[in-house]
Amino acid sequence: MTRLVNNPADFPAQLVDGFVRANPRYVRKVFGGVVRGTESKPGKVAIITGGGTGHYPAFVGWVGPGLVDGAVAGNIFSSPSASQAASVGRAADQGGGVIIGFLNYAGDVLHFGQAAERLRADGIEVRSCVITDDVASAPVENWRQRRGIAGGLAVLKIASAAAEDGLVLDEVVRVFEHANERVRTFGVAFAGCTLPGADHPLFEVEKGQMGVGLGVHGEAGIYETDLGTADDVAGLLVDRLLEERPEGSSGRVVAILNGLGSAKYEELFVTFISVQDRLKDAGLEVVDGEVGEFMTSLDMSGVSLTLVWLDDEIEKYYFAPADTAAYKRTVLPDAQLPEDTVFETEASQLEVKKPGSDASRAAGVAIARGLTRIANVLEENRERLGDLDAIAGDGDHGIGMARGSKAAAEAAEWLAEQGGGAQTVLVGAGDRWSENAGGASGALWGAALTAAGNVLGDTEEVTAAQQAKALRAMIDSIQRLGRAEVGQKTMLDAQVPFVEAFEKAVADGSGADEAWETASQVATQAAQDTANLEARMGRARVLSDRSAGHPDPGAVSFALVVSTASDLVGAR
Ligand code: ADP
Ligand code: MG
Repeated sequence: MTRLVNNPADFPAQLVDGFVRANPRYVRKVFGGVVRGTESKPGKVAIITGGGTGHYPAFVGWVGPGLVDGAVAGNIFSSPSASQAASVGRAADQGGGVIIGFLNYAGDVLHFGQAAERLRADGIEVRSCVITDDVASAPVENWRQRRGIAGGLAVLKIASAAAEDGLVLDEVVRVFEHANERVRTFGVAFAGCTLPGADHPLFEVEKGQMGVGLGVHGEAGIYETDLGTADDVAGLLVDRLLEERPEGSSGRVVAILNGLGSAKYEELFVTFISVQDRLKDAGLEVVDGEVGEFMTSLDMSGVSLTLVWLDDEIEKYYFAPADTAAYKRTVLPDAQLPEDTVFETEASQLEVKKPGSDASRAAGVAIARGLTRIANVLEENRERLGDLDAIAGDGDHGIGMARGSKAAAEAAEWLAEQGGGAQTVLVGAGDRWSENAGGASGALWGAALTAAGNVLGDTEEVTAAQQAKALRAMIDSIQRLGRAEVGQKTMLDAQVPFVEAFEKAVADGSGADEAWETASQVATQAAQDTANLEARMGRARVLSDRSAGHPDPGAVSFALVVSTASDLVGAR
């Protein structure tokens, strides 16, 4: 959906105006589009490009040193007029001739062709060069009839670097055409875009399906198929592009993974892994990956993969510097680190430095078993805790607790097996919990386990009185680290009454099992009672009103943890 609209009819003109205002360093506005706001070498061949708008960063975002000299901007997805294109060409001309380089669409061919004639009539030498990288749009025999899509950036980048290098007009045309033969793109669409002012998208793809062979003007795919995983999509894209390996390529490629407007960068990176692996498996070296949005269709959802098949000339120009509003490539001064450089960045190592006493080892085994059971319970409650956190927080509490406790349990089991005592097991578990859980609760739980472990040590027997001390140390560490106070609607509001009840039971002479049972019941009640509190700490603070009437997720998960522990202690 395109939501930020004034008058839909003015949308294309306004987006260009706004772009120019935001980028005074790079561009100047002229009738029909934009040209560089920086000086160019006199006599340099000028390259202009353009087409309809709605494809940002294409095309205005690419105007600047090292890339194109001007961009013509039409209405959304529709060709600019010949007079607009001629105007931009005239403004961009540096006396070395003008290349109009554009994506192959009927309207653009007509309007840019006419513009070329007008410029010629003005005495400017002009060449038209067409970009035809979309393998889905015509069979390889008819490759000159193919559409142009995201690979256009690479073609323009390469030709523009040749122009910057001082090549004369016909030489730059040769490089342009050579690059166009070496750049191929294939894409898939998941959902169509919505034009400004419209209330429904141009096309829809059924859930779980994708349109294969997308266009960039809101065209759906050529056929539909099952969506599959990110790896499946990567496989489809790579396999198709590998069917057309151009002759004379060095085996070095650049892979450009382009989002069409609402594919997320995160999704693209996930997909890129498989793209690179498959290209490697095919014996190709992926010299560089470009992952991001280069040519979009408003808010269309989809992804395309472009391969730039390098040779010496293409590689040199592809990697030449460029500096535009949307595309920057610098030449870094120094060498890369060797590929086999080793970094000391391992996660904390689990290690039993000194075996525990028999009594402490027995406690270590019991703790590990308890953590494993707790991890299972938290996994079962993952969604519920997440939903609770989503009311006023960010919804990650269930995932965080499940992930943290699982890692903690695994570490604890391993350490207990290696003969670790209570301290070793708990400290290792705490490290793993905070490393794996993330979030406020992850840090707090990690610190809490470590604090408890440090009280218990690796030699002493773990009596009920020792447990009370360890539990007190847990909440002290949470208070120290989190700086929350009772009554602010955090896990502490269940923890403090829990520990107080535990301590009282032990002081009154109860055994551990009884103390756990009494205290965990107190914790469960206290967690429920947090529904009446106003959030004053953590993420929920900001949306405190929303959380009214709902218990605090961290308090609820704490009650789950101690109830589970209590069941286990009671069953022993
Ligand atoms: P995040 O808030 O970083 O998303 P989680 O969602 O995993 O982390 O945990 C949220 C819970 O953490 C809250 O419900 C609250 O109980 C607890 N919490 C947050 N900040 C604090 C704090 N400073 N002290 C004690 N507990 C806190
Ligand atoms: Mg959260």
